Amino acid sequence: MAQNLDLQREHSFFEDVVSYFDHASQFVKAHPGILDQIKYCNSVYRMRFPVRIKDGFEVIEAYRVEHSHHKLPTKGGIRYSEHVNQDEVMALAALMTYKCAIVDVPFGGAKGGVMVNPRNYSEDELERITRRYTTELVKKNFIGPGIDVPAPDYGTGEREMSWIADTYGAFSMGELNALACVTGKPISQGGIRGRREATGLGVFYGLRYMMGFEEDMAKLGLTTGVQGKRIAIQGLGNVGYHAAKFFFEAGAIITAIGEYNSAVQSENGINPEEALAHFRAKGTLEGLPGTAPLANNTDVLEVDCDVLIPAALENQIHSDNAARIKAKIIGEAANGPVTPQAEAILIEKGAIIVPDIYLNAGGVTVSYFEWLKNLSHVRFGRMEKRYEKSMNNNLIEAIESTTGKALTEVQRSLIDRGADEQDLVYSGLEETMITAYDQIRDTFKQHQGIKTMRTAAFVTAIQKIVVSYETLGIFP
Ligand code: GLU
Repeated sequence: MAQNLDLQREHSFFEDVVSYFDHASQFVKAHPGILDQIKYCNSVYRMRFPVRIKDGFEVIEAYRVEHSHHKLPTKGGIRYSEHVNQDEVMALAALMTYKCAIVDVPFGGAKGGVMVNPRNYSEDELERITRRYTTELVKKNFIGPGIDVPAPDYGTGEREMSWIADTYGAFSMGELNALACVTGKPISQGGIRGRREATGLGVFYGLRYMMGFEEDMAKLGLTTGVQGKRIAIQGLGNVGYHAAKFFFEAGAIITAIGEYNSAVQSENGINPEEALAHFRAKGTLEGLPGTAPLANNTDVLEVDCDVLIPAALENQIHSDNAARIKAKIIGEAANGPVTPQAEAILIEKGAIIVPDIYLNAGGVTVSYFEWLKNLSHVRFGRMEKRYEKSMNNNLIEAIESTTGKALTEVQRSLIDRGADEQDLVYSGLEETMITAYDQIRDTFKQHQGIKTMRTAAFVTAIQKIVVSYETLGIFP
């Protein structure tokens, strides 16, 4: 049975984020004025515009919220969903601020939302909606390479980003950096290799690194490493699919997968590629060979597993179902999937929640690389790839002539190359996820009173933002 993913809120999503912020603030030394300035949303733009749909017009409601301008541009995705509302966009914009700070991406936080279910519109209609939305952003100065840079989110992807880039470009003839007005674009339109899978890959890098700490895993009663771990994933969209794929390739067992209308499980493990192909062809996960259907789509959250990855929407784990969650590790690939009430229940049960503002920051990290690529007008690796390859070749020759032995083909292929754009993006992303995790873990260890990784992540983020405000000199 398909259960509505947008369950009733325990209270406002933005208030939840504020409550995390307030709780974390007690561990940060800062002027209360700075904390207030960080906490609230700086600009909220609510718009309504008409779009020609079928034979008539429809009035579309949409938002763009810029939460913090302590660094510019502001950054964050655009969500297309019938459940979009101001409170949700404000909460998501705030999460972007903390996310960017944690991974040292020099942006303020923002988010956009258009209140439409993309499944109900043709491609032409979605193009008109997207171009008109972009025009509204241009009119009010809510988009630009140095102002506010959108990206994909739930319900949007490369196609929408290319419409946005093209519309913005039409308004900014001669602006050299116009393509940097949005990220998550197709490669042919200034996108970067590795952006599509970036959020899911970041989730994988973050959890894999975390699962390598023996001391932390022992407390959960788990061994270290990804190999053989049982993983359940809610959401087979861009984030969930790629997270599942990287875990599967690393030898984890994907025991259950859920979508908005169906969920399946298999003790032997599910191949995410086969699951996606089946879902695309049939519109449901049910009937996927080798799997058994779950009675409700949300049952995927409650299956027996080591790691649960909610990769769909907010408010999925709440006070009604938290006690039934069996996973030891909950990796928040979605934004806000666990409510504060549910978090308290899960922590009490001895689980660990790896928070969204850290774990899903891979998307914005690679968006940052894309933005840099657009501003520098050169593909990463273009200058050095051949140089590295010839230097590595020299190294092979030196090894072979010194040792008198020839390297095997496999050894040769590992060394005899230079890094291309995807290699560099993956390397930058892995480095970012590891560095950020170490910082959060250090914060956790420094303060006796910090009980959750979420609080440690918020403290880490707030400390960095406070420093930016202090150096801005706004508060003497
Ligand atoms: N929508 C993504 C997020 O929630 C990506 C944002 C971006 O790349 O700017 O983090």
